[in-house]
Amino acid sequence: MDFKLTTEQQQFRDAVSGFANKHLKAGALARAHQAEHPWDVARLMAEQGLMGIAFPEADGGQGGSLMDAILAIEAVTEACPRSADVIQAGNFGPVRVLAEYGTADQKKRYLDKILKGESVICVGMTEPEAGSAVTDLTTKATPDGQGYRINGVKVFQTHATAAEVMLTYVRFGPGVGGIGSVLIPRTAEGFKQGATAQFFNGEEWVQTYLDNVYVGPENVLLKEGGFKKQIAGFNVERIGNTVRSLAFGRYAYNVARDWAMTRKQFGRFLCEFQGIQWKFADMKMKLDAGQLLIYRAAANAVNGIPSQADTAIAKAYCNQVGFDCCHEAMQIMGGMGYTTETLVEYCFRKCRGWMIAGGSIEILKNRIAESIFERTFSQRPPKTSETH
Ligand SMILES: Cc1cc2nc3c(=O)[nH]c(=O)nc-3n(C[C@H](O)[C@H](O)[C@H](O)COP(=O)(O)OP(=O)(O)OC[C@H]3O[C@@H](n4cnc5c(N)ncnc54)[C@H](O)[C@@H]3O)c2cc1C
Repeated sequence: MDFKLTTEQQQFRDAVSGFANKHLKAGALARAHQAEHPWDVARLMAEQGLMGIAFPEADGGQGGSLMDAILAIEAVTEACPRSADVIQAGNFGPVRVLAEYGTADQKKRYLDKILKGESVICVGMTEPEAGSAVTDLTTKATPDGQGYRINGVKVFQTHATAAEVMLTYVRFGPGVGGIGSVLIPRTAEGFKQGATAQFFNGEEWVQTYLDNVYVGPENVLLKEGGFKKQIAGFNVERIGNTVRSLAFGRYAYNVARDWAMTRKQFGRFLCEFQGIQWKFADMKMKLDAGQLLIYRAAANAVNGIPSQADTAIAKAYCNQVGFDCCHEAMQIMGGMGYTTETLVEYCFRKCRGWMIAGGSIEILKNRIAESIFERTFSQRPPKTSETH
């Protein structure tokens, strides 16, 4: 066992750091407060070979590994946390499911532009009545000629207002086995979005109404029975969310560390107070432990897809650690930490969302319990003929 990066991994990380420090660091604060997707950054990253890092070269990717993509998020976050969203969108999100399961034609129509930084894809899983219980989704695919008519409502999709296409979870039939997915371009007739609202992290969200939208056979991604595959691909998205949580927590920790070494009260630097030192010791222990959980999930991944158990443990832990570090960093920086003069409050808001998005901490702990006891625990009410 070796706890160091290989020479190639270190060189790659250093190269990404060099690029991010040169091109992204200067505008980091302003970028964090801009609602629109940073297309300029996306194009720069594409030119730099930071999109589709772990995708096959035949698909327009870089032929690297999941670990490389993780290192890229870490290195970019150190310079510009907001730009890490672009690495997520071009490597870990629904784009990964498209790259894994899409047909050559689907990849040509949608993946090419995403990897050039000219387009993004969003994923529509969540519905008003199907959040954690995502398999309760009711968006229906009804056969119509060679294709399907889609009817339903989706909420909370990241990039909903910018995405060219939505990877949409739909129900072809009853039960978990009836779930699959289709690709719906935003230009499709019957694709409508409601008023734009805001998440606490500053991102936009909307309700998306699918009103008898026709999807031809060429836009079916996974037919019924595809749910398990989708969730396997979704573990990569979860790892991206996990890495950003930890990296944003570390970013806040570093800002607070600099502050504690330069800010004086009572005639002493903050870092000389034991009460402050112990906060840093706690943060450091948690950041190091979270790092190892992420690297374990990546090292154990099969074909670039980490296991459900490794992913759940890493995500539940790092979501909490990222948030805890931002929270403590804000406290250590006093009033200044609570302003928009630094990125600590931005990291705080982002980390808070990842505790809910992509499988909440509670749902992940349910998954962890299942792996401990090697059995499933239905979350549904017991079936009984009694009425209460
Ligand atoms: C920043 C952000 C980005 C998102 N991006 C997307 C996206 O791109 N695409 C998309 O489809 N969705 C997205 N979502 C939606 C997200 O997936 C859901 O919010 C999430 O699955 C929780 O569903 P819910 O909000 O309906 O909460 P609910 O499911 O109603 O849960 C409410 C609370 O109850 C807890 N809970 C529920 N069931 C259990 C249980 N069995 N055991 C213990 N606790 C339980 C939850 O953990 C949570 O704390 C995003 C959400 C956020 C916040």
